[in-house]
Amino acid sequence: MAKQSYQVFDITLARRTRLTPSLVRLTFTGADVVRMATHAPDQRIKLFFPAEPGSLEALFDCVATEPDDWYAAYRGLPESLRPPMRTYTIRELRAERGEVDVEFVLHGDEGPASRWAMRARPGDRLAMTAPVAEAESLGVGYEWKPPRGVKRLLVVADETALPATVGILETLAARADRPQVDALIEVPLGDDARPLAITAGVRWLPRDAAPGCAHGERLLRAVRDVDLRAEIARLADTSDHAEGQDEPADDELLWEAAATDDGAPFYAWIAAESKVALGIRRYLVNECGLPRRCVSSMGYWREGKVLG
Ligand SMILES: Cc1cc2nc3c(=O)[nH]c(=O)nc-3n(C[C@H](O)[C@H](O)[C@H](O)COP(=O)(O)OP(=O)(O)OC[C@H]3O[C@@H](n4cnc5c(N)ncnc54)[C@H](O)[C@@H]3O)c2cc1C
Repeated sequence: MAKQSYQVFDITLARRTRLTPSLVRLTFTGADVVRMATHAPDQRIKLFFPAEPGSLEALFDCVATEPDDWYAAYRGLPESLRPPMRTYTIRELRAERGEVDVEFVLHGDEGPASRWAMRARPGDRLAMTAPVAEAESLGVGYEWKPPRGVKRLLVVADETALPATVGILETLAARADRPQVDALIEVPLGDDARPLAITAGVRWLPRDAAPGCAHGERLLRAVRDVDLRAEIARLADTSDHAEGQDEPADDELLWEAAATDDGAPFYAWIAAESKVALGIRRYLVNECGLPRRCVSSMGYWREGKVLG
C-alpha cells in the first residue's frame, strides 16, 4: 500500500517572532520534523488546538492505532475530545534542524486558532498534519502550479494568504526566466507591509488607508486596475463562463483549482476570504472572459462562519 502523503506530527512551540502588528511567526520543533516535507509555497497543513485537557493526547493515541488514516482516527474521537482543526500554510521548513514556521493572522479571540496563537508560549504543544518526506508528493496539498512556460502571473491575497504569497514571490525571484508578475496584497494595516523578494508589480493594500472599506474591497477594486488587455485579447473564451453555478454551499469554502497545461501563457492564483475570492474569479472569468482553467481561486476563510 502506498505510504500516506500526510501524517500527524507532535510539535512544540520553540519561539514567537512578531512580524507585523497583525501577523506572528511561530516556530515549532518536534522529534519527527526531520521527516517533514513541503512541496510548494502554499503547502497546506492542518493544526489541532487543545480545547479540552487531554484532547491532543487522545488524538496522538488514536492516530497511533490508525497510522494510515489520520482523518478517520480524528473523526473517531468522541466529539468532546476532538481538538478543533484549522488549515494553515508551511511558511518555511528547516527539516535538517527539525524546525517548521507557520505564520498566524491574529484576528481576535473568537476562533481557537487565533486565540491560541495570541497566547501561546514556548513549550506549548500542538498537533500538525503535514507531508512526509518519504512519501511521494503527487501534487497533493497545494495549488501553486504555474504553467512552465507562463508569461504573466496574477497573485491576489489577503492577510491569511500572505505567508503563501511571500513564499511564492521567493520562488519567482529565484527563477532566471521570471514571468511578469502582478501581486495584490490586502492587509489590515499599513504597518503589515513587509520586505518581499520581489517588489516590482507588488501592491500593498492596507485597509486602514481606506477607512470604511470592507474586507476584500480593496482587492476587488485593485484587480480592475491590472492591465490584462493582452491576455484577454489572446485567451478570452466566453464558453467557459459559469455565472451562478460557482457559489459554494453555505458550509463550504470556494475551491477551484486551475487546470492549465505547461504552454498556458497566463495563470492567476487567488486566495482570500471566500466571497472575495469568488468576486475576483467572477471578474476575471465572467467579465474579462479569461479561461477558468487558468485561474485558481481559493477561499481561505469565510466571514462570519466557523468552518473547522
Ligand atoms: C489552504 C489554507 C491555508 C491557510 N493558511 C493560513 C496561514 O498561513 N495563516 C493564517 O493566519 N491563516 C491561514 N488560513 C486561514 C485560516 O485557516 C482561517 O483564518 C481560520 O478560520 C482561522 O481559524 P480560527 O480558529 O482563528 O477562527 P474560526 O474559528 O475558523 O472562525 C471564528 C470567526 O473568525 C472569523 N475569521 C476567521 N479567520 C479570520 C481572519 N483571518 N480575519 C478575520 N476574521 C476571521 C470567522 O469568519 C469566524 O466568524 C488558511 C486557510 C486555508 C484554507
